[in-house]
Amino acid sequence: MAAVLARLASSIVRSSLIIALVSNCTTGSSDASRKAQTKALPDASVQLAPVARQEAEPPFVYSVENVSDLRILRYRVPSFAGLSLRQKTLLYYLQEAALSGRDIIYDQKFEHNLAVRRTLEAVVTSEVDRESADYRALLTYLKRVWFSNGIHHHYSNRKFVPEGLTPEAFAALVRKADPKRLPLSPGEDVDGLIEKLTPIIFDPKRAAQSVSKDDAKDPVADSANHFYVNLTRTQVANFTKNQVVPNDPNPVSYGLNSQLVGRRDGSIDERVWRVGGMYGAALAECVRWLEKAVPFAENEAQADALRKLVAFYRSGQLKDFDRYNIAWVKDTDSAIDLIHGFIETYGDAMNMRGSYEALVQVVDTAATQRIRTLSGEAAWFEQHSPIADAFKKENVVGVNARVIEAVVAAGDSAPAMPSGVNLPNADWIRQDHGSKSVTLGNILEAYEAAARDNGVLEEFAASAREVSRARKHGALAQALLVDMHEVIGHASGKLREGVQDVSISLGHYGSTLEEARADLVALYFIVDPKLIELKLLPSFEVGRAAYDAFIRGALLVQLARIQPGEPLEEAHMRNRQLIAHWVLKEGSAQGVVERLERGGKTYFEIRDYVRLRKLFGRLLAEIQRIKSEGDFESARDLVEMHGVRVDQELHREVLERYRALHVAPYAGFIQPELVPVVQGDEIVSVSIEYPIDFAAQQLKFSARYSFLPTYN
Ligand SMILES: [Zn+2]
Repeated sequence: MAAVLARLASSIVRSSLIIALVSNCTTGSSDASRKAQTKALPDASVQLAPVARQEAEPPFVYSVENVSDLRILRYRVPSFAGLSLRQKTLLYYLQEAALSGRDIIYDQKFEHNLAVRRTLEAVVTSEVDRESADYRALLTYLKRVWFSNGIHHHYSNRKFVPEGLTPEAFAALVRKADPKRLPLSPGEDVDGLIEKLTPIIFDPKRAAQSVSKDDAKDPVADSANHFYVNLTRTQVANFTKNQVVPNDPNPVSYGLNSQLVGRRDGSIDERVWRVGGMYGAALAECVRWLEKAVPFAENEAQADALRKLVAFYRSGQLKDFDRYNIAWVKDTDSAIDLIHGFIETYGDAMNMRGSYEALVQVVDTAATQRIRTLSGEAAWFEQHSPIADAFKKENVVGVNARVIEAVVAAGDSAPAMPSGVNLPNADWIRQDHGSKSVTLGNILEAYEAAARDNGVLEEFAASAREVSRARKHGALAQALLVDMHEVIGHASGKLREGVQDVSISLGHYGSTLEEARADLVALYFIVDPKLIELKLLPSFEVGRAAYDAFIRGALLVQLARIQPGEPLEEAHMRNRQLIAHWVLKEGSAQGVVERLERGGKTYFEIRDYVRLRKLFGRLLAEIQRIKSEGDFESARDLVEMHGVRVDQELHREVLERYRALHVAPYAGFIQPELVPVVQGDEIVSVSIEYPIDFAAQQLKFSARYSFLPTYN
């Protein structure tokens, strides 16, 4: 259950100051924008250029285009530059292994997905009029298909149909396509293909849900995905029951890597996804690249894991998958890591069959360094915290968080990407051998950076100065706040003896107050000279940017995430409003934060950053007292008075202002591409490129990594 859980809200352990800033971030996670300040070093492969460029690098473009309800973004991999050629070569092989399985998820989600995609791709790569409205509508639909890895929406799982394209116009475009490019089945002509695909593409009732969890219907029969053919829920359940070994303390993940097909005679055929089996052509390619990667592994643990993954793809035995996972969790020293295989089961109504997914990653050196520095100074922060001495920990240890940068992803984790991953999924492996939990720092950075370009900042910032401060320092401010929240925030403070855990003593107010406490530690210290001494902060302007963003996010921007009339329910949203509302009220006599009306719009402007810090400190001391003493009444009063109710008038206004900006709710990414220079058999350098055209990249992937037949 882990990775997608992280995708929905990796804020179970990590909090999410980011949402205050990232206006419409759909992830619930933290750790945004870690390295916006890190200058990429020139890659070894481009060092031949004789003259260093004098002019500043043009700013990286994060936000590329909007397609229907989707935003297409880009992300950077700053840590790539610091890697050795050997590591870069390893990354390149893993990239190829990841992308080689790309077609699998299309077929898993729906048996006709590859036929639809290849037909549309044939049109857009043929000589057709690219200026016509019909062509543009078809291209938009194709972009949505790429984004969702098929014709069902990546988030809702519901089928979407082309907008502004009639079946007749579709047919006309297909007839103009080069017939050699069309995915014609044996004996099928172009008219036959059009006739087959028209209801598949245009009839919203046909194959309406890729996965249906409607218990009133048969979720197996009702799901359009390709995990089961001619079967009912009962048949699948009975088949599985016969497979399960009773009382096995180390059960395999039954059904994870196979399709079940009901035969006419009532028997069930299990088609295993392995080299030589179903999806064998794509998996053989994956294996070919994984085997090339093995000699470039950073250490024996990593090589062992890669070999075991190959063994699993060859045998298709789920015991081999467990062996691989055990080896994988042992590999903790490598800078480079890989998730590759049939991982999450959300796409299956029976929660058994895994969707193909791959994620190639490298450790985020800047974030790791920052976290180490903070963690090493945890005792200093505890000593200098404004909380009562009685509640300070004698031996405080900073929480260790691992941040990585995504390099390349495929299948279930692309183009929409997770913000955190926690694997493996098998409970007994997690218990007996451990698990790995990471945050994708560069993906969160991209979300945060893109949010600075979509007009939300200008709309809600109180002044031009606030805007420019956010543009200059917002990324670092965000990264630091999140790090401090995690590393020294949650680690701080102790309970009075005999007081129970907050989840018991403070009930359902516990999580809101715990998040508020960690936020307040971060807010209190982000303007401390200690951070400048530690070289974590170049100037106090970063701290001011953090304060601006926090107040703006808590009192205005985050309201766009809830429906009219709803109270705040989510712990992080409550905690942020609680803090901001409390300081607004407590500081009102001295005008610390001022509420302004301009042209019918509301703004909040910070007038006194020094006093605001003192207020954060006072509230931190009080919330620590509440937690340490298990003071339920005060917890309830604080949350109910400041954190729950929404100013209805202001909420309406925010929703209106937000709507006018037309920010699409879902985001996904164009990926970087690793490009090797080969001399003879040897890779002599690898560079990283950041393409800017989503359609061009998807077409390139389809041309290069299409290893499966159209029907599987
Ligand atoms: Zn937290």
